[in-house]
Amino acid sequence: MSNPALDKIIEELKNYDGREIRLMEVCGTHTAAISENGIPSMLSDKIKLISGPGCPVCVTVTAVIDTLIELSLTEKTCVLTFGDLIRVKGTDGSLADAKARGGNVRMVYSPMDSIKLAKDNPDTNFVFAAIGFETTTPVYALLIEEAEKLRLKNIKILTSLKTMPEVIRWVVKNAGNIDGFIAPGHVAAVTGGGIFNDLSKELGIPFVVSGFEGEQLLMTIYALLKMAGKGGYKNLYKSAVSEEGNLSAKEKVAKYFEVSDSSWRGMGKIPGSGMALKPEYRQFDAGSYGLDEDHEPAGCRCASVLVGAISPHECPLFGKKCTPDNAHGACMVSTEGSCYNYFISGR
Ligand code: SF4
Repeated sequence: MSNPALDKIIEELKNYDGREIRLMEVCGTHTAAISENGIPSMLSDKIKLISGPGCPVCVTVTAVIDTLIELSLTEKTCVLTFGDLIRVKGTDGSLADAKARGGNVRMVYSPMDSIKLAKDNPDTNFVFAAIGFETTTPVYALLIEEAEKLRLKNIKILTSLKTMPEVIRWVVKNAGNIDGFIAPGHVAAVTGGGIFNDLSKELGIPFVVSGFEGEQLLMTIYALLKMAGKGGYKNLYKSAVSEEGNLSAKEKVAKYFEVSDSSWRGMGKIPGSGMALKPEYRQFDAGSYGLDEDHEPAGCRCASVLVGAISPHECPLFGKKCTPDNAHGACMVSTEGSCYNYFISGR
């Protein structure tokens, strides 16, 4: 069915001929949705979409991967992880390489799978690689709650949990030159859109909370184009995002976690940009503190890609030494990574 209002927006976006506008999508799922929907080809050359630091696997530093590898090679210890992280290289190979060398690594689909494993295998210590943003942290809180309730002593998490506001401040201060942000819809569903309203006022840059459908993304880009240079905030994903967010999820997170400093690939340690277990729950921590070191694979430019300083195409290894089947850097491993999505979609 034709939609004249949307057709007009598409036409305006394609024919825009004002000053160059740079818009950052912070969330890896938006990066994937933008590529899948062919959005860049629908825009004028003067509207640049830049991918930001919102792919959890991509921003995880090598010290975390190295520690997980070490744990997987420890007697009676099993490391549990989501699929993407297993292929990301640490200082000396990936978790998949460690598994091939006899490391005990298992992929799971939900952190809650680890409860059954821990109950069924009391002689094995399970360590869940707890990476992610505000969206995922409530699930780790539920995991700890369940482990506590069942008095399971053989389950811990290695945390590299991150939050959005401080890294956005970091990107604005250090990478700069951004005219608007496509605010992450899934994160906002948990935190509430209010945090992005606050950021827009503080930074004087517009934020629009967006859904993940092609039409929603086009409406968001159009709104940002109109708001560029003026600032402001809009929530165009009201079906999922309220201003206050998911109060029960936030309450659960606040029970088990506290704000911490966190190290990001390519950005170093950013104060207040992470979540760590509170001291009273540290018996569930597998050694997450002080994991700050980061060594990118030789020639990899993920650090610059993650802050929008370069496009994936500007990495000399893109599509040559580094492809999804033979990923050299983290941004090509994850389905939410910028390099992966630029390669798959030809963006
Ligand atoms: Fe790193 Fe590969 Fe991306 Fe280059 S193309 S920045 S090597 S992930």
